[in-house]
Parts: sequence; structure tokens; C-alpha cells
Amino acid sequence: MPRKRKELFSHKVTTVKEIVPGYFTLEFERKFDFIPGQVVAVALHEGDDPRLYSIASSNKKDTMRILFDVFPQGLLTPPLSRLKPGDELLVSESFGKFTPSDKPEWWISTGTGIAPFVSMVESGVENPKKLLHGSRTLAHFLFQDVFKAHLGENYLRFCTKEKGDGAIDGRLTNWLNEQTDLPKDVNFFLCGNPEMVVEVRDIILSKGVAFENIMAEIYF
Ligand SMILES: Cc1cc2nc3c(=O)[nH]c(=O)nc-3n(C[C@H](O)[C@H](O)[C@H](O)COP(=O)(O)OP(=O)(O)OC[C@H]3O[C@@H](n4cnc5c(N)ncnc54)[C@H](O)[C@@H]3O)c2cc1C
Repeated sequence: MPRKRKELFSHKVTTVKEIVPGYFTLEFERKFDFIPGQVVAVALHEGDDPRLYSIASSNKKDTMRILFDVFPQGLLTPPLSRLKPGDELLVSESFGKFTPSDKPEWWISTGTGIAPFVSMVESGVENPKKLLHGSRTLAHFLFQDVFKAHLGENYLRFCTKEKGDGAIDGRLTNWLNEQTDLPKDVNFFLCGNPEMVVEVRDIILSKGVAFENIMAEIYF
């Protein structure tokens, strides 16, 4: 059965910022309520195939933010990065089930997969959380200041290409592999590219984490 297309609504862009080379935040007026962790479908023109983006902002603000990196040959992200305040963007209502649970959680993310966790902390999600954040360079720990401020020592950064600034040297999957005792009473939230999510899922399953305690949002 064909999937029902999400209805898209016109929104005015308020801000577009390149926060590190190739990575942008885009803000637009907020017309709908949402639960942190949800996504929206986005397009520029009626009839375009929309792309999905995690909401990366507080659910209490008047504007909504998404975070994306530019695929030079992509259909949407190059023109998205060139939008100006006042331009029109087509956005759906929010949807998705990658939303906070009532248990303690470990969040695991790389790249733009950090977006839903930005929304969660900025919306005031309060259960005990730990965030494992992987990046090639120190500059690409997107929103690291927000997480340092909200999560303190529960914010762990893993850097593969640079050393220093308190980041742990190496891949977060190496660190997970070295852990002998992962907690069994927490939910694990994994978000990012398919390779990372599948690798992390396999490691934590092999260490006794129950399948039903793993939530994954895959940016395919
Ligand atoms: C649930 C979900 C949430 C997501 N959240 C985010 C988010 O918060 N931030 C984010 O940045 N991304 C997110 N994504 C990914 C996002 O939806 C887009 O896929 C991404 O931004 C690329 O869009 P694009 O139109 O620029 O590229 P596309 O046009 O989709 O192209 C993507 C890549 O595929 C290549 N390609 C395209 N067509 C072909 C073809 N026919 N043959 C070979 N290669 C081809 C392109 O060259 C490009 O490298 C999410 C995805 C999902 C499923």
C-alpha cells in the first residue's frame, strides 16, 4: 500500500546559520506542538519529495530549528543552505516515536544525529541522562556547549582525529566495546547514520542490553 504523503504547510524562515563549515541550522516560525525527539518532513516546493529532519530546538520556543549537513549533489540540502530570512519553507506537523522515556537513558550520537538530543535538553527533559557523542574533530561536536551546561560529567565526547579539550581519544564504539558492565536498567537511544547505529546496537546487544531497551533513529 503506498505510504500517505505528509501534508506540508508554509512556514517563514527566520534564521540560517553555518555553525561549522558544511553544517547549518535553519530556524522557522513554529506552528505546531511537538514532543522532543520527533521529526518533520521538509520541502521547498509543492510536489517535491520531502526529506525528514529531527527537530533540534526547545518545544517552548516560537521558532523551530533543524540541523543539517549539505550533500553537494543532494536535492534539498544545497538550496536549504541558501535560504534567507523571510523565505518560505514547507514543513509537516511533527511525528515519530523517538521520544523520551520515563527511565534513565543513555543517548549515543554522531554527526547531525545530535539533533533530537538538542531538542530534549533544551525542552527540559530531566531524567538522568548520559550522552556519548562521537566526532572526527573537536569543532564538530555540534552543540557541545549546550550539553556541557546541561549534562556536566554525563556528557562524554569521543574524538577520532584530534586530541585535547577533555575529549576521550578514539571511537565511541571502541569505548563501548571495552565496557564490561553496561547498565541493564536504562534505555539506549541511538541516532545518526546507519553504520554507527547498527554497530552500536550490535555491541550493546552483545553486552546483554535487552533489545526492547534500544531505540534507534536512523538517518538513511
Ligand atoms: C528519520 C530521519 C531523520 C533525519 N534527520 C536528519 C537531520 O536531523 N539532519 C540531517 O542532516 N539529516 C537528517 N536525515 C537525512 C535527510 O532526510 C536527508 O536524507 C539528507 O539531508 C539529504 O537530503 P538531500 O535532499 O540534500 O540529499 P538527497 O537528494 O537525498 O541525496 C543524498 C545523497 O545521495 C546521493 N544520491 C541521490 N540520488 C542518488 C542516485 N539516484 N544515485 C546515487 N546517489 C544518489 C546524493 O548525491 C547525496 O550524496 C534524516 C533522515 C531520516 C530518515
